[in-house]
Amino acid sequence: MRRNRYISRARHSADAETLAKLARRLSESGTRIEDRLWERRLVELINDRLVRGFDDAIEAALDELARSNPGAYDDLADLAESCAESATIDIDGKPHDALLIAVPLLAWSRYKLPTTILPGPLADNIGVHLTAHLAARGARVALADYLFSIDQLPESFGEVRDFADKLFAAAAHGTRMKIDPKALREPVAMLADTRYLLAAIVAPQGAALFHWQETGVDPDAKLAAIAAFREQAGNALQPLLTGCRYRLLAPNAFHAALRQADRDLREFSLEAAVSYLKLAYELAPSALQATIAPFEDKRVEEIRVGISTANDEDAVIEGVVWPLLGDEEDKAQEEIEAALRALGVNRITTHAHRFPLEYCDDCGAPMFPNPTGHAVHAEPPEESEEQPARPLH
Ligand SMILES: [Zn+2]
Repeated sequence: MRRNRYISRARHSADAETLAKLARRLSESGTRIEDRLWERRLVELINDRLVRGFDDAIEAALDELARSNPGAYDDLADLAESCAESATIDIDGKPHDALLIAVPLLAWSRYKLPTTILPGPLADNIGVHLTAHLAARGARVALADYLFSIDQLPESFGEVRDFADKLFAAAAHGTRMKIDPKALREPVAMLADTRYLLAAIVAPQGAALFHWQETGVDPDAKLAAIAAFREQAGNALQPLLTGCRYRLLAPNAFHAALRQADRDLREFSLEAAVSYLKLAYELAPSALQATIAPFEDKRVEEIRVGISTANDEDAVIEGVVWPLLGDEEDKAQEEIEAALRALGVNRITTHAHRFPLEYCDDCGAPMFPNPTGHAVHAEPPEESEEQPARPLH
C-alpha cells in the first residue's frame, strides 16, 4: 500500500507540473492557432485525470500558478471548469455535446429557507420551461429533482464531473436524475441565501445547444428567452418557496452561474436585512444606521456590514457579509454605501482599520462592526414584543 501511495504521489506531482507548464505556454501564446494546440493537449490531460479521479493534480497545478503566474492560472482554471461541467457523450453511436447548467435563485425568509425534492409534476414543468426557452431544437434536457443549497452542490472538479456525467446519462435516456436527500449536507441557515436547480443540455456535436444560437435565430432572442424562463420557471417554483421572497437568476454553465449568484447575493442580502427589520420589528430604513468595515485573515477577505438602530452606537441588530470575490476593497465599500443609500439607510459609518475575521465561538455566526469600532455579536432588538425564534446565547 505504502509503495502504491508513493507512486501515485510521484505521478500526481509530475501531472501537476505538466499541467502548469502547458498552462504557462498557453498564456504566452499570441494567436488562436497556437492557443488551440495548447488547449487541446490540456483538455486531453484534464479530462483523463477527471475521469480517473486524479483531480488533485489539477488543484495542485492551480495552487502553484496562483502564486507564480495569474494569467496561466486563469487559463487553466477556465479549462478545468469547462472540462468538469461539459463532456462529449455518445448517443445512438453519434457524438453529442453535453453541458451542466445551474439555475440560481436568491431567496430570503424569516423562516428556514428550503432545500427540497422537486415533486414530479413540478420537475416536469421546469423541464418544459428549460426545453421551451433555453434548449435548441432537437437538444435533450434533463433535470436533477432537487432544490440545492450551495453547501450541497458538488465542489471539486472531480465531483462536478461525476455529477454532470450522471445528468448527461439521464438526458441520454430521457429521464430525471434522482437525488437522495440523505446523502446531502444540512445547509447553514442564513436570512438570505442562494438556491440552485441543476440540469443538463445535450445536443448533437457541433449543433446549437441553446435556442438563440440556432441558424436564422436573432442572437438577441436570448434576452427575451431568459426573461420568459425566469418569469415562468420562477412562478412554477412558488409552492416550494412559501414565506420566501425570491428572485430567479439567469441560467448559465455551472461555474459561471455560481459566480454570478455569489456576486448578486451580496446586494440582495443587504436588501433582505433591511426588509426583514422593517417586517419583523417595524424599523424603517430611516431608523437604522449601518457600519462598514473590512475583515482580514492574512488579507482582506470580506467587508462586513453591521446594522444598528439609529440611536444605539453599540448594539448590532443584524449583519451582512459582503465577500470580496476578487474586487477591490475600496470599490466594494463604495458599492455597499450606494446600495445602503438606495435602500434608504443614509447614516453610515465606514471604519478604515481592519478587523480580524472573527466568528462567535458558540454558534459560528460572524461578528459585525458597530459604530464605535468594535466587532460584536448581532442580537435582535430588545424593545420588540414579538420576536421571531432566533438562537440566543
Ligand atoms: Zn453566537
